[in-house]
Amino acid sequence: MPILFVGHGSPMNAIQDNIFTKNFRDISKDIEKPKAILCISAHWFTDGTKVTAMENPKTIHDFYGFPKELYEIEYSAKGSPLLAQKIIELLSPIKVESDLDWGLDHGTWSVLRHMYPDADIPVVQLSIDYNQSADYHFNLARKLRTLRSEGVLIVGSGNIIHNLGVVDFENIETENYGYDWAKRVKKIINDNIQKSDFEPLVDYLKEGEDFRKAIPTPEHYLPFIYILGLKEEGENIEIWNDLLVGGSISMTSIKIY
Ligand code: ZN
Repeated sequence: MPILFVGHGSPMNAIQDNIFTKNFRDISKDIEKPKAILCISAHWFTDGTKVTAMENPKTIHDFYGFPKELYEIEYSAKGSPLLAQKIIELLSPIKVESDLDWGLDHGTWSVLRHMYPDADIPVVQLSIDYNQSADYHFNLARKLRTLRSEGVLIVGSGNIIHNLGVVDFENIETENYGYDWAKRVKKIINDNIQKSDFEPLVDYLKEGEDFRKAIPTPEHYLPFIYILGLKEEGENIEIWNDLLVGGSISMTSIKIY
């Protein structure tokens, strides 16, 4: 299976028909139907690593102040206790907690409802341990590589550039509107992606002031690091949805195949 990092952006993308969600739909058409989906979402950032292991994960509406319509969405994909168990074994000796409380957060379902509207593929989420470095997450992801040959589509969902505090809402509809620092960071990151030079991307904290503005907190960036960690030697990388929104959010997504 290919691997995907998806920039999810605003929860409103769950119900909007725009260039981003069109591309979510289109990208799934080029991928053989997966047996299961493993999603690493920015919105499950926990003390330790957890994996959802319930038969029927609930749809979590983990956002505030959005239209009622968004709270009514249910994404009723099944879980996969079997895949959860397999992940626990693959990641050993790292202790992974089998979780029965979480479900599918909007980082997962706001994208999957476009990619797989029938919700007929089991979905498991893996949480991101907030105590650990990007390097740790990159190496953890490498242990999951064998899942790809078993028909599991692994999706990281976040935003590479994500600074909500300075979003320019007056320009939210302006196509590809980005602050200068966001444009500079996007270019550096994309150049490194294209060269498969992942070291500076994992070591992003050393990159200086622009990067500190672009990635003020790690949770939306780390799902991207998971996807880089899953890449095999010689694979292709395609960049898509590569636009800035509101000055300080990038929707940049990647497909590795
Ligand atoms: Zn988010």
